[in-house]
Amino acid sequence: MNRIAILGSTGSIGTNCLDVIRSQTHEMTVTGLTAHGRWQRLAEQSRIFQPRRVVITDESLADSVDPSAFNEHAVLEFGEEAIPRLASDPETDVVVSAIVGAAGLRGTWAAVAAGKRVALANKETLVVAGPLIRELASRTGAMLIPVDSEHSAIFQALRCGRPSEVRRIVLTASGGPFRGWTQQQLESVTPEAALAHPTWRMGPKITVDSATMMNKALEIIEAKWLFDLDDDQIEIVLHPQSIIHSFVEFIDGSVIAQMSPPDMKLPIQYALTYPDRVEGISPKMDWNQSLNLEIMPPDMDAFPAIRLGFEVARQGGSCGAVLNAANEVAVERFLSQDLSFRDIPRACRAVLEAHQFDPNPSLERLLTFDNWARKETQRWRS
Ligand code: NAD
Ligand code: MG
Repeated sequence: MNRIAILGSTGSIGTNCLDVIRSQTHEMTVTGLTAHGRWQRLAEQSRIFQPRRVVITDESLADSVDPSAFNEHAVLEFGEEAIPRLASDPETDVVVSAIVGAAGLRGTWAAVAAGKRVALANKETLVVAGPLIRELASRTGAMLIPVDSEHSAIFQALRCGRPSEVRRIVLTASGGPFRGWTQQQLESVTPEAALAHPTWRMGPKITVDSATMMNKALEIIEAKWLFDLDDDQIEIVLHPQSIIHSFVEFIDGSVIAQMSPPDMKLPIQYALTYPDRVEGISPKMDWNQSLNLEIMPPDMDAFPAIRLGFEVARQGGSCGAVLNAANEVAVERFLSQDLSFRDIPRACRAVLEAHQFDPNPSLERLLTFDNWARKETQRWRS
């Protein structure tokens, strides 16, 4: 029996994860759930899945929440400090890290420190603290299994060869709603247009990241740390249909790809059942339909975020924490119409270039960089 805690259970990944668990009730139980706001949704989830622990991270809700709305036997706690307790509970085997942004670092860290299997959706954890997380996992024996669809594809394809036989990996990108747009067209993108992704339904932050292609930048850095690659072993291609989720090229020239309809339930389920595969509820390919799969190079001038991703993957150190924090604030400012769409990568580059690079920062230093970059990006003007 897999005993599973979900950090960020009310989000897009969290609810997909609960759908997977509900379809596998003989094999899986839920031990913990967390959310930031939307406590009614969390309460409803708790009544269905009966976890032992429930956490609401937004402490300001403590007075307005009705504890009787939650399952009777759950311990209900408030505040971020409760997340590490939930993530390291000895009666949990797997922690699904599905909080959005650097806010997910704390819980992921606690799960890795406790030697759990970690189903990792929160890519920002690796962008901010990749080397430290890897080192911690190697000490505790924690296993990091990617949930991000591209990284799940790579993780699956890597089983076809040895690490020394890998030439490079190729991450696919849908290109988002503005694929093929010119730099000039991109100047006038509205939040509403950026939030309408053509192939994936996701939370707002990652949807904007997909539109700027900052998501791919974060994924380059995520792949580097997950799979121990050099930045020149990572390529990006556009693939508008989102059927091929990424591929691995081996030294003999053989390329192994993973394909499935665009739906996060498959990579989530694989992270929960690995190394086994089980029947599941994710949609299947229909081979009676003709299928056109396109692959093309990205336009790095229109989408400069990709270049930032490669640069930050190469430089390492404090760059990931700064890029991630700058992007989080720039996305918020874009959504409140305080920055233009193209200002997002501009602000990120400016803040990155202004920071005092540290090649080997501690966790504490990384959090200081995160804090600094947030303030700098908040007051950045184009
Ligand atoms: P979402 O916005 O839909 O959900 C975020 C969850 O985190 C919610 O449960 C929310 O309550 C919680 N949360 C938000 N702010 C928090 C805070 N400050 N402290 C604690 N909890 C907080 O996001 P999502 O789309 O599910 O994405 C979650 C993570 O998974 C992100 O890191 C994203 O990059 C990654 N991811 C998502 C998808 C996808 O299809 N949605 C695909 C690949 C990777
Ligand atoms: Mg992805």
